[in-house]
Amino acid sequence: MKKNTLIAAVSVLILLGMITVLYYLPRWQNKTYNQTAFVMGTVFSFSLEGKEDPTSELLQLGNSLEKDTLSRRVKDSEIAQINASAGDENGYPLSEEMEELLTTCFDISKKSEGAFDITLGALISLWDIDGWASGERGDAKDFRPPSKADISSALECCGYEKVRIENHRIYLPEGMIIDLGAVGKGLYLDKCRGELSGNINGIVSAGGSILTVGEKGDGSDWKVGITNPFEDGLYATAVLGSDKCVSTSGNYERFVEYEGVDYHHILDPKTGYPAWIKDSEEDSDDQKVGVASVTIVSDSGLLSDALSTACFVLGEEKALELSAEYGAEIFIIRTDGSSATEGNHFLIK
Ligand code: AMP
Ligand code: MG
Repeated sequence: MKKNTLIAAVSVLILLGMITVLYYLPRWQNKTYNQTAFVMGTVFSFSLEGKEDPTSELLQLGNSLEKDTLSRRVKDSEIAQINASAGDENGYPLSEEMEELLTTCFDISKKSEGAFDITLGALISLWDIDGWASGERGDAKDFRPPSKADISSALECCGYEKVRIENHRIYLPEGMIIDLGAVGKGLYLDKCRGELSGNINGIVSAGGSILTVGEKGDGSDWKVGITNPFEDGLYATAVLGSDKCVSTSGNYERFVEYEGVDYHHILDPKTGYPAWIKDSEEDSDDQKVGVASVTIVSDSGLLSDALSTACFVLGEEKALELSAEYGAEIFIIRTDGSSATEGNHFLIK
């Protein structure tokens, strides 16, 4: 080969090499992907780092979970069809995934002595919780609390112990409505974890539920703020490793004011009223200190979401027992502004 031909060949090879490097370099580098959207009646946000953008796939996952499975307001979703079968003596067949979800929920109902109950749909509709804006005072101008008589008749259609699951079929009594608002976001986080590959890092936030994904670039822990229920800002921080789920249930997340009382969205199945509020009928000035928010840390999104709701209603003493039973960590902010915790992942600000 002539010298000139050799030089030309080597030059072409070097050029090709440079083009290849320039073409692939951006793909070898991590990029940050931020995205926010309204899903399942709340704000979902992603802050993820990786080579490829996973956010549209994750959003799609949230939308289809809501539409196909969890939303009782979407006519053909699995839960809407289950609800439509209430009173049918033939029951309704359950998918494997739904049977597993409902069985976990009913297990938590039993262990929480009914404080957590996904069969409260009729009561939730009576209070029109979905009609209130999240965390914005005065948005439901026509709101007035339902009458005691209406609360009592709605409660007759509720009660997890009235549900039967047998041979993969569910049997609901007439009028019962299952509402999965307390667990949907946590279940979604578990699905996200299954979807994300090993080389993505960051945070997925679905309403009050958060998943830490992978490791932080600088090797430090993830820090998730715990909202102060009484004023703007944070009350505490959860300091976490990778693949942990954190859920908070708080009285400030969704509420409406009527005659000086803030009615929020987490109902006590024993009374039919929002838990721990000073409602006119029952309360006196010496009411015991209640719960303003509960934060749960768990490896499971479903458990963190379900337990935060359950523990909110249960109150401090039993909440500490229940979270321990499920191996979860807990941070409680009491209505008097003080706090209680079991676990070493929480730092008070
Ligand atoms: P979360 O914000 O996860 O605590 O869930 C609150 C939502 O769960 C409400 O908006 C209702 O849809 C539903 N819910 C309210 N009270 C209860 C309860 N005691 N048990 C189960 N679900 C409830
Ligand atoms: Mg919950």
